[in-house]
Amino acid sequence: MTAEHLREMEKEIIGEIWTSDEPWRNLVYLCDDLGHRFAGTQREHKAAEYLRARMLDYGLENVRLEAFPMASWERGPCRLTLTSPLERPLPAVAMPYCPSAVLEAEVIDVGEGELPDFERLADQIPGKVVLTDAETNRPGERKSHRTDKFNWAIERGAIACLFINQNPGQLHITGSLSGRGPQSSLAADREAAIPGIGLSYETGHALRRLAQRGPIRIRIETQNRTFDAVSYNVVGEIPGAEHPDEIILVGGHYDGHDISQGAGDDGAGTVVGLEVGRVLARLKGKLRRTVRVICFGAEELGLLGAWHHAALHARPGSGERFRFVLNLDGAGRGAGGQEQLTLSGLPELVPYFTGLARVLKYEFAVRDELHSHSDHFPFAVRGIPNATLNSRDSTAGMIGRGWGHTEADTLDKVSLRGLQMAAVLAARLVLWLSEDETFPGRQRSLEEVRQQLADAGILERVQQAGRFPPA
Ligand SMILES: [Zn+2]
Repeated sequence: MTAEHLREMEKEIIGEIWTSDEPWRNLVYLCDDLGHRFAGTQREHKAAEYLRARMLDYGLENVRLEAFPMASWERGPCRLTLTSPLERPLPAVAMPYCPSAVLEAEVIDVGEGELPDFERLADQIPGKVVLTDAETNRPGERKSHRTDKFNWAIERGAIACLFINQNPGQLHITGSLSGRGPQSSLAADREAAIPGIGLSYETGHALRRLAQRGPIRIRIETQNRTFDAVSYNVVGEIPGAEHPDEIILVGGHYDGHDISQGAGDDGAGTVVGLEVGRVLARLKGKLRRTVRVICFGAEELGLLGAWHHAALHARPGSGERFRFVLNLDGAGRGAGGQEQLTLSGLPELVPYFTGLARVLKYEFAVRDELHSHSDHFPFAVRGIPNATLNSRDSTAGMIGRGWGHTEADTLDKVSLRGLQMAAVLAARLVLWLSEDETFPGRQRSLEEVRQQLADAGILERVQQAGRFPPA
């Protein structure tokens, strides 16, 4: 294989992407026709059927739905009322896995809700409702995840948790809550121990100002249902000609939150992954290794599709070897041109990818940061080289998840050009990862991974969830 030959293949796939609006049309169907694709619902299942049909259209092979049992959730009414010092209704949404509840209690504001905040206020938390920012990280910054704060609140005796959206605009924040029995996929275990409620920035800050004047009380009345259901990964392949058992896995998650269209999180990444499959299928028979396109189900409820796929395929004795996993959670958002590749605990691969950016003559940011909150992680804990490609949404001043996890994660925030730019980069990366014999990535041992998780301060949480060592 000459560099010349690789160049010809690149030109073909790049030309194909830039002269097609296929990813946009797919995203319109997922967002406008189906709307939300909450895991375990009819709409998610319809999306799975649609994605499967597209893979067949594009000529992918071994196209299949990979079913797995999981707990889904259905929201009912959620009424939040300020009862003291004033009486007034407040707009609010229950968050996935929130149990039904009727309760009234005093509110304790823990501010950003980092661990030191919870430690400082520990003796004031029992029996109260915790008020906290949801997630406050700016781009490139890592702050605690919503579920960490939720667990810290429960451990200190809180009876409910109110999460404040980090961005203004009267938008409620959502996101799944951690369950009573994280090791189980049964509805009875996945339901959260206490209610978790999402507030807008404006409602949250109004409560915060009142709390500075003196004690405030709120009442929560909410009815929701956690139930046993099924979700699917959608999988298709372009078999490798020389090393069919060596796999480059690429794709995003097609499920989303029920209060939005899930356009940027992660409809965009899903259709970018499909586009990679569509154009690489044109090279069938010429690729050395197998490219497996996956649309993960149920990411938003705990990476459930990715855990399932990793457990089935990325284990000793499966006969498959994962050379690289390219997660597309957040790829294709915004206007394009601000793509970022985040390796997860693989600093030694940063020079390879920054060098590749020069070879490709396309600028993208490369960094390394071990984190556990997207579909790369079930592969990372198995020591598999992996990265997440995402596109910065250029909306100025947004922090945390931006429009993500709010009602405003809608199709109008995504553009065909943003999808095309991410697809070009993702397809070229996958092509190189399939063909380049000098790729220096290697599988880490479980002992190395254990040390990395410990160094990152997340080993204990991963163990509590029954995810390490991986089953
Ligand atoms: Zn996502």
